[in-house]
Amino acid sequence: MLVATLISVAFGADQPPSPGVVVEWLRGDGSDEPATPTPEIDLQPTSLPELAEGNGFSYPIVGACLPESNLLLPGAPRAYRQGVHEGIDFYDVDSCVFVGSDTEVLAAKAGTVIRADHEYEELTAETAAEITAEIEESGSVSDAMLDLLRGRQVWIDHGDGMVTRYAHLDGVAGDIEVGSQIEQGQLIAYVGESGSIDAIDAPGSEVHLHFEIRVGEGYLGEGLEAAAVRQLYQQAFSPSR
Ligand SMILES: [Zn+2]
Repeated sequence: MLVATLISVAFGADQPPSPGVVVEWLRGDGSDEPATPTPEIDLQPTSLPELAEGNGFSYPIVGACLPESNLLLPGAPRAYRQGVHEGIDFYDVDSCVFVGSDTEVLAAKAGTVIRADHEYEELTAETAAEITAEIEESGSVSDAMLDLLRGRQVWIDHGDGMVTRYAHLDGVAGDIEVGSQIEQGQLIAYVGESGSIDAIDAPGSEVHLHFEIRVGEGYLGEGLEAAAVRQLYQQAFSPSR
């Protein structure tokens, strides 16, 4: 059956899924979905400053939840660029709430805007082909190309080395500028699919929010197993106590 085929593609040893495959798989009936256990794990307290005081993050989309699929969480393989996923993908199929073009994106935590792409040049088929060729040739992708693949973005600095990034945006809210002081839950942007290679040939197929929590030089949960990543982000999104 289709779902089983897609899962075998998704978990084949040499062929981790492209985002499009993940979405196709998620649109199945879900009956073959692998379990995602969340055992008790000792988390590194230094990896999430401030949370001990209940000063956590809120979801960047109203009503959203952590996706059930580990493939949409940080640390998941991304074969098309020979790397790993560094954020959470909020797709309509696995976010507990409708996510579509122009769905509002909210600041996950108070902070200062350090990037707001009001001006943005859409990723062209030519550039996408160059990126694909470089990945095939070098076996990796440069930071500059990775940045192009995240499309239109907003970044917010929360202090203590923590930055949130909101990617693939369709637009940035008019009053959001570099230096703006942002409250938690404030409207900052709108969901889109900018920077998605698959969307060039199939517009509308990659509409989702890619959301990252950066800690220092890396991303929250970097190097952890999937279950530990899930637990860490559940903690990060816990309501303030
Ligand atoms: Zn993503």
